[in-house]
Order: sequence, then C-alpha cells, then structure tokens
Amino acid sequence: MYVMKFGGTSVGSAQSMHQVIQLVKDALTESKKPPVVVLSAMSGITNKLIEAGEYALNKQVDKAKNIIDQIRAHHKSTIESLFSEENIQQQQLLQQLEKYYDELIVICQGVAYLGELSKRSLDAISGIGELLSSKIIGALANREGIPSAWIDAREFLITDDNFNKASPLWDKLIPAANEKLLPLLKQNKVVFTQGFIGSTTDGISTTLGRGGSDYSASIIGVTVNAKEIQIWTDVDGMMSADPRIVPNAKLLSEVSFQEASELAYFGAKVLHPLTIKPAVEKNIPVRILNTFNTKSAGTLIKGQVATNGETVRAVATKKGIRAIFLSSPRMLMTHGFLAQVFSVFDKYKVPIDLISTSEISVAMTVDSKENIEGLLSELNQFGEINIMDDVAIVSVVGRQFRYQNGIAGRVFNALKDVNIMVISGGASDINLNFVISSKDADKAIKQLHTEFFKLESVLAG
Ligand code: ADP
Ligand code: ASP
Ligand code: MG
Repeated sequence: MYVMKFGGTSVGSAQSMHQVIQLVKDALTESKKPPVVVLSAMSGITNKLIEAGEYALNKQVDKAKNIIDQIRAHHKSTIESLFSEENIQQQQLLQQLEKYYDELIVICQGVAYLGELSKRSLDAISGIGELLSSKIIGALANREGIPSAWIDAREFLITDDNFNKASPLWDKLIPAANEKLLPLLKQNKVVFTQGFIGSTTDGISTTLGRGGSDYSASIIGVTVNAKEIQIWTDVDGMMSADPRIVPNAKLLSEVSFQEASELAYFGAKVLHPLTIKPAVEKNIPVRILNTFNTKSAGTLIKGQVATNGETVRAVATKKGIRAIFLSSPRMLMTHGFLAQVFSVFDKYKVPIDLISTSEISVAMTVDSKENIEGLLSELNQFGEINIMDDVAIVSVVGRQFRYQNGIAGRVFNALKDVNIMVISGGASDINLNFVISSKDADKAIKQLHTEFFKLESVLAG
C-alpha cells in the first residue's frame, strides 16, 4: 500500500485537485490496495491563518475576520468550480466548512480578548487549512465514485504537547491508528486525511511544524506499514540545488536516507527534515514525485544507493540563521569547558546546527528563535559573546569527502569572492558546511553549482 502526500501547490486550485484525484485513481488501478492520501492546506492558506492569529493578538479582530472571509471565499470558489453542476453537494460542503470558520472566529476573539497568542492557540488556528482542503478533496473523490473515507488526523495522530513542533507519541499513536485508521483500510477504502496536524492525548490540536505534512506522511507510512511513501509536489524530485535559485539544477534519481536528511536539514525545502526519520527505522522507501509532470520518475530515497562516481551531489542553503561566537581564555588548556557550554544549550532546549572550535573560541549556529535571550545571557558568563544575525549555512553534500582530494579546494575556489565566516566539515564524510551572510547565499549556491555541475549547466543552457 502507498501513502500519497500532496503538498500545497498540488491542492492549490480546482484544476490541481482534479489532478490529485486522477493520480489516486491511477494508484488504485496499479496497486489494487487503496492508498492513504495525506493532504496539505491549499497553498498560501497556512500563512493567511497565521496572519489572522497575529491580527487577533493585536486586537484587530476585524482584520482577522477579513482574512477568514478571504479564506472562505477562496475555498468557496474552488468548490463552485469543482461541483458546478451539483448544487446540493455544493451547499452541503459549504455548510460543513462553516464549522471551521466559526471555530476560527471564536479562537481569534479569544486571542484578542486575552491579548495572548499562545503556541497552543496558534496550532488550533494554523491547522484548519488542512481540514478545509481535505474535506473538499474527500467530497470530490466521492463524486468521482472512488470508494473512500475521510478521517480527521487528530483522531489517531497522537503527539506530545510541544505545540508548533509536536512529536509523535508512538505508544499512543499506534493503538489509536489500529482502532480508527486501519479498519477503514480493511474496508478497502481510500482514506483521505490531513498532514501537519495531530492531537495530544487530551484531544488538544497540535501541529508538527511548518512543512510538516511530509513528516505526517512518513509517520502514517510507518503506522500502516506502507510499501512506499510518496511525496507529490511541484518539482520533479530532489535536485542538485533549489530550482528557484538554479533553474537548470539536475534531478537526482536516487538519494540515500542520509543524503536526503542532510539536504533537507540544511535547506532543501522539498522535504521536511524529519520525514526520513521514521522511514529509516522501518526501511520504507520515500519517493518524491511531481504532481504536474507524471512522466518524471522522481527521486527515490532509500537505504542503499549505487554510486556512479559522482563526488558532489547537491548544494543547499538555509538562511536567516544566527551565529554565536564565544571566546574565553578559560578554555585554554582546560577540559570540560565545552561540556558546560553545551549544558546551557541543553537547558534552553536550543539545538546547535553547526560548530567549529579553536583553542579559546567556539562558533555555533542556531536556527531557533525561542529561548535565545535566556541562552545568551547565560553564555555571557563564560566569556565574550559576539552574535551575527541573518547568516546562512551553505551545505555541500556528496560522497566520501574524507577520501577525495581537492573537494574543499574546489568549493572555496568557487567562492573566492564570498566572505566565509565559519567552516565545519569532516564530521560526516558526506558534507561540508560553512557560514556566510544570508545576502550572499543565492550567489554562493549558483557559483558552487556551476563549479560541480558545469557540464549540465552548459548543456542546459
Ligand atoms: P509542497 O507544498 O509540495 O510541500 P514545498 O514548497 O514545501 O512543496 O517544497 C517544494 C519546493 O522546494 C520546490 O518548489 C523548490 O523550490 C524547493 N526546493 C528547495 N531545494 C530543493 C531541492 N534541492 N530540490 C528540489 N526542490 C527544492
Ligand atoms: N500547510 C503546512 C505549511 O504550510 C504544512 C505543509 O504544507 O506541509 O507549513
Ligand atoms: Mg513542503
């Protein structure tokens, strides 16, 4: 059985929703076993929901309501276009969605009244987009005669209460899925559900973090023991660089779990960084496919991948990062100093992405905006702190870097006009990372891509 996840653009219009239904029909014909279909919100809707929450926080309830009206109008026109001949179905569907808009208004009023937008409230708001889109696609599947069922993912995708970035609670999730999700599949129905959202054991709505529908697909894939987890998106697969920065980036037909994790973690937005984690544990292949170009075989991500002599496979960048430079004479010839520094990061639950040390200094990058003030004030006790906001990590991902001559030479030669602030490499033999200013990131990606993929760049154009 497949899990098929469709992203925001793939469900972004009436036309693309038709395409989703066609792909589900094709999967049914091909495998006979009905897939679980995991859906994102229509593109742009999650951002709008968050905007409504922010207006409410500023006590601008009218502006929040205005945004909710825009969301309603957008879904309404999609429904009218999909069900142009069926007035009764249209009315039923519009009616079903009303309850979500009502919920949104009540939450926004509460946020405005209290003057507080907690992470918990934000999850209750931002997860509604997936419920709206999945209701529409579920109804479309019905109309198209697909034996199907719709389920609210919060009935089985049980998470902890780390709102905005919740993690699955497997010992609760598996029994809930056995009870609620598997019976639907046993009835041979295609199951339509939502990505991104879950619920605590007490029934409070959570989200898995921005872009988290991919993660949902892989959690569900493990739960139903899927043969393959398919991530249907708006590009042909995982490419040698973000095609928005490098239009002639090359499609990677096969990528290892480890390479995909590194690329996703260091900026390849096509996959949420945590998607690979459950898939690795059950060794379930993940395939990235293009909803709008089904001729492309996409990218297959799996455990073992053949090598065909390439060294560098892809480049990625993550912008808007903060670099912390800590310098302390106390570090000189002592032991246990770094352990103390790391214990502060542990205390504030701030992950370090990249690190580089010298005898009396350490440079670290963090992506998190949370708990930063507390963290910095405690780090201050260790020595002199310098902060650089808005830096970017650039990551060059490839194979066997530890055993190849000249990779670093080529990387830094390609970037001779870029100021490189921190370098970190050698921890794994598949990547080399460094820190530059965010404003230089796109240029660095282009230059590195030209260096390592010259032939493709020339041929393409
Ligand atoms: P979805 O809504 O389907 O989840 P996303 O916008 O989250 O789609 O991810 C797809 C986007 O990821 C692409 O449009 C592309 O611009 C971007 N992207 C960044 N890096 C890469 C990469 N290395 N390969 C492919 N796409 C990438
Ligand atoms: N709709 C959510 C977001 O925009 C989740 C996702 O699409 O993956 O972040
Ligand atoms: Mg995405």
